Amino acid sequence: MSSILSIQSITKFYGPIRALHKVSFDVPPGAVFGVLGPNGSGKTTLLGIVMDVLKASEGSYFWFGERPSEKHRQQIGTLLETPNFYHYLSGERNLQIAAAIKGRGEGDIPRVLEMVKLADRKDSKFNTYSLGMKQRLAIASCLLGNPSVLVFDEPTNGLDPVGIAQIRQLIRDLSKEGKTIILASHLLDEVEKVCDHVAILQKGQLLMAGNVGEVLTNEDFIELGVEDGGMERLRAVLSGLSGIRQLKEQEGHLQLYLENGGISLAEVNRYCFQQGVVLNHLQLRKKSLESKFMELTK
Ligand code: ATP
Repeated sequence: MSSILSIQSITKFYGPIRALHKVSFDVPPGAVFGVLGPNGSGKTTLLGIVMDVLKASEGSYFWFGERPSEKHRQQIGTLLETPNFYHYLSGERNLQIAAAIKGRGEGDIPRVLEMVKLADRKDSKFNTYSLGMKQRLAIASCLLGNPSVLVFDEPTNGLDPVGIAQIRQLIRDLSKEGKTIILASHLLDEVEKVCDHVAILQKGQLLMAGNVGEVLTNEDFIELGVEDGGMERLRAVLSGLSGIRQLKEQEGHLQLYLENGGISLAEVNRYCFQQGVVLNHLQLRKKSLESKFMELTK
């Protein structure tokens, strides 16, 4: 089996609204896979489809290399929205009820409580839990029966920084156990911190998918400036230089994006001078991931 989940050209309409358009990507085994996109980009719709809560208008998907079936869903723990726990029952009692409903994991409750660090509060009523504890109990419910794949929609939404850090650590721990984790998030920071693979959605279309390091790499670029009226000549000169991937004009400067192992500032300066162009501005700049994400999804 080459992928845990294979999404193939999925399109979804809600009446006239197109929420997804021909989205395709594969989730490799053992990945922590982020589905990243701004609000309304189609993340929840996509997770709803692969969890069989929603029907795709077109396209197909395969779990474990096979057509989806109930057998597969038993191997997947899902957190798409906050489950309805009983407020006046304890965390442990709520998990017993969840296990009975799911038909799996009755004997697994001490293990999952330990995993989400709620064992010492298992007898407390749900309504005495903090928001972070409620979310951890929801994740504990997904872990019942030890599924090999976990699907989480915005697992840290609404939590404070401590709660967010606890959930992220839990995701890392689950990944170390060998689980495949698919999580939707609108937070670049979240995906960068916990995911090794990412698919970026914008207005229902897939912009990019792959290894986080490749998709969201920090890019260096060189910024150059010349006296007024010299920009066209500079652009023409630079287009003859090898090792350049892209040239962009921004706020009166030219930005030079380099191929891997590009060229140094000194080399660019020398080359321009030899071609009769005198630079009045030359600077190496780092492009932040934030600005790359903004640019991708603008
Ligand atoms: P968010 O992070 O805000 O939840 P999302 O990326 O998960 O956003 P979706 O909730 O999947 O995006 O929504 C994708 C698009 O589909 C949006 O334009 C949304 O308004 C629309 N949409 C979602 N659910 C429905 C529905 N039941 N009926 C009509 N339109 C819907």
